Amino acid sequence: MCSISPRLWSDILVEVRQQHPELARPWFASLEPLEMQHGVLRVQTTGTAHHAYLTQQCQQAFNSAAQAVIGRLMTIAFVPPAHPDSERPLTFERETDELQLNPDYTFPNFVTGPCNRLAHAACAAVADSPGHVYNPLFVHGNVGLGKSHLLQAVCHKLQDHGQAPKRILYLSCETFTNHFVEAIERGALHQFRYRYRHVDALVIDDIQFLSDREQSREEFFHTFNTLYQAKKQIILSADDAPNGIPRLEERLTSRFNWGLVVRIDSPSLETRMAIVRKKAAIRCANLPEDVLYHIAASVPSNARELEGALSKVLVLSQQFGGAVNLQIARQALGDHVTGPGRLIGISDILDAVTEWFQIRLADLQGKRRHRSIALPRQISMYLARQLTNLSLEEIGGYFGGRDHTTVLHAVQTVTDLQKQDQELEHVLTALTAKLHEKVS
Ligand code: ADP
Ligand code: MG
Repeated sequence: MCSISPRLWSDILVEVRQQHPELARPWFASLEPLEMQHGVLRVQTTGTAHHAYLTQQCQQAFNSAAQAVIGRLMTIAFVPPAHPDSERPLTFERETDELQLNPDYTFPNFVTGPCNRLAHAACAAVADSPGHVYNPLFVHGNVGLGKSHLLQAVCHKLQDHGQAPKRILYLSCETFTNHFVEAIERGALHQFRYRYRHVDALVIDDIQFLSDREQSREEFFHTFNTLYQAKKQIILSADDAPNGIPRLEERLTSRFNWGLVVRIDSPSLETRMAIVRKKAAIRCANLPEDVLYHIAASVPSNARELEGALSKVLVLSQQFGGAVNLQIARQALGDHVTGPGRLIGISDILDAVTEWFQIRLADLQGKRRHRSIALPRQISMYLARQLTNLSLEEIGGYFGGRDHTTVLHAVQTVTDLQKQDQELEHVLTALTAKLHEKVS
């Protein structure tokens, strides 16, 4: 048995960051190498969620980083934190199929904007005094808008409270129904009921899946009543408001409406940029504004896809020594929208217009007002409006942060001009055809 020098361990962390920037987290600094024996390096982790993240997602990355640094076959064994009993607050029975909390899904990592401010405030209030403010709390919104993130943030906060240990059950609706079916099959309904009805907080994600399960609905109804009467906190999420979930009977929808129902909307461009900035910081990456902008603008509405886009950019940047610039971002996301012929993106339009008019991108995005630049700029804005789903505000952002009235004016000018100017009409037709051809 031997120990490993701090220098070697920090080299391993650097290697992981370089090879897998999408996995790296700032809290890796708190990992502590213990000892090395028979090619196994034991590493102490500092939290249950950290341990789960490392074993489930980072094992391979750490093994190969250790191999690269130490120069021989190595395995890293992540040691779970030893909880004194008083610090064992989370789930009172860990089952393998129970959802683990994602260590990234905390309140500090959640970006608030007009789309989610209310949901965030409600979750924060519930985390501060569970069972007393909004009960039940029902959060709904489309996929990828941060519902699971917020629900888990509440669980993290309850877990960290440092008060009397809380029994928290966080799980997907599907797990609830699976447990229920298994309990019936095994004749273990009594244990099932004990388990679900003796918690301080029951947090169920994607409750809309109850709609297809009549027996589970019945069971959930009674679970709900018991917990509610005991003033225990219930938090639910769904893809729609209670009344919009099909086949959910009135006795359930009305109960879901007893507490507070909050909706999360799609994030604006500004919020998306803040989300990408936050996600980059979590990955220890510092991105220039134009890259943040490009990523945020290339994913119109969904925070989950933003994360995928960011990972693509970070992974590609490794081939260029870790530097991230707009060119790399454009290369990484060029094929971002796939499917039967991808959508035309703003970068396609910028490329086509600069090539056609033989001008530089910097001029198109700059302040010069000479007609030789101003007209191509207006044409680009016009084409962006016609051929992409970007809002006026978003288009303006691509042209040196011009505001939406400037874009509107450009679109109007080009629309009017082409009626009188055959030459311009021809240019627009040719550019449009070229763009469609490029993505088909
Ligand atoms: P949902 O449960 O609504 O489908 P998730 O909670 O799984 O969505 O969120 C998808 C991804 O987007 C997650 O990585 C989450 O961290 C991220 N995300 C969504 N909204 C935000 C936000 N406001 N701030 C930071 N990250 C966010
Ligand atoms: Mg979810």
